[in-house]
Amino acid sequence: MTDERINLIGLDRAELGSLLAEMGEQPFRARQLWHWVYHRGATDFDAMTTLAKDFRPRLAERFCVERPGVTTELRSADGSRKWLLRFARGHEAETVFIPEEDRGALCISSQVGCTLTCKFCHTGTQLLVRNLTAGEIVGQLMVARDSYGEWPAPKGGRLLSNIVMMGMGEPLMNYDEVAKALKIIMDGEGIAISKRRITLSTSGVVPLIRRCGEDLGVKLAISLHAVTDELRDEIMPINRKYPLAELMAACRDYPGADNARRITFEYVMLKGVNDSPADAHALVRLVKGIPAKFNLIPFNPWPGAPYQCSTMDAMTRFAEIVNAAGYSAPIRTPRGRDIMAACGQLRSETQRERLSRYKTRLATGAEDDHEAPAPA
Ligand code: SAH
Ligand code: SF4
Repeated sequence: MTDERINLIGLDRAELGSLLAEMGEQPFRARQLWHWVYHRGATDFDAMTTLAKDFRPRLAERFCVERPGVTTELRSADGSRKWLLRFARGHEAETVFIPEEDRGALCISSQVGCTLTCKFCHTGTQLLVRNLTAGEIVGQLMVARDSYGEWPAPKGGRLLSNIVMMGMGEPLMNYDEVAKALKIIMDGEGIAISKRRITLSTSGVVPLIRRCGEDLGVKLAISLHAVTDELRDEIMPINRKYPLAELMAACRDYPGADNARRITFEYVMLKGVNDSPADAHALVRLVKGIPAKFNLIPFNPWPGAPYQCSTMDAMTRFAEIVNAAGYSAPIRTPRGRDIMAACGQLRSETQRERLSRYKTRLATGAEDDHEAPAPA
């Protein structure tokens, strides 16, 4: 049986308003529904007690309020949680929550897979790619809030306080849906996470960086990872289209960046590739004039990866040089190793298991082999 009802999650205010207007309802009904769906986290129209009793079944006929399906939820000993979520047409992507003392950041995916094929990134090796819809992006946050019971959206003291668009996919390659989702998430009468607590990470889709700042005003993180075009061209093919000089110019122009809201430069530490003291000095020169801070990320190896993580010595030396130039440059401690919290790993792991189950079924002639695995 196919459910033809429209999922309310992912609709913005205007869309919700016009759908209700089609049903002959007043604009205040849309506001009430917005409150129930995005502020209270309600999924059942019957529980929406401020709506007239005869209106609720009419809503339930046309609409549903559905989260993505949870394929796996893993809880790490260090408090991180990770969900492998199932979207329409069986596609899967990951969401990870990394808690800190009195708050925490939810790492949200923007695409299934990624077209940009950075050499060190496992997500870039996955063949299947599709954009997530705004509903699927907002849905990730709602699943996490369900899991921590943070409904209605608490005013203060939230565990789920921050968002980083750093999961699978390149958010600026799916700009329209990402922007729509973030506007829903930032709406003060709904999920209400402020733009100051949202960071969008990009590998450098230069033409959309400015628009992101103007439209959304969120914080910016750049996956830099190399200080010369020669190396960046090799490890991040997008650099051939938008080289370092253009990327740095876009950062200098980023609306709203200042010393209080610095641009984060992410730098994955690859042994013998980008981790020398000369690289660290060049990095400092490259960001001159930009309100910057750094995240040094130990490379997280995956099966068949062409790189190794830098030694602790090399990372420490690198960090000291960047620190001495006046920048914050923490070496990020890998979190959730026991639940494979690195980009794309859980999904690939699950697909590998599925692939071997599938092969076993084929080999044994089992009948129920309709669950063919997507390419991993
Ligand atoms: N596509 C966006 C956001 C997702 S990637 C971007 O590239 O910025 C999130 C971060 O993880 C990026 O900085 C990415 O470069 C980094 N990353 C990818 N694979 C990694 C790995 N194996 N080890 C450590 N960091 C990795
Ligand atoms: Fe895509 Fe980002 Fe991975 Fe590059 S690092 S392949 S842009 S997800």
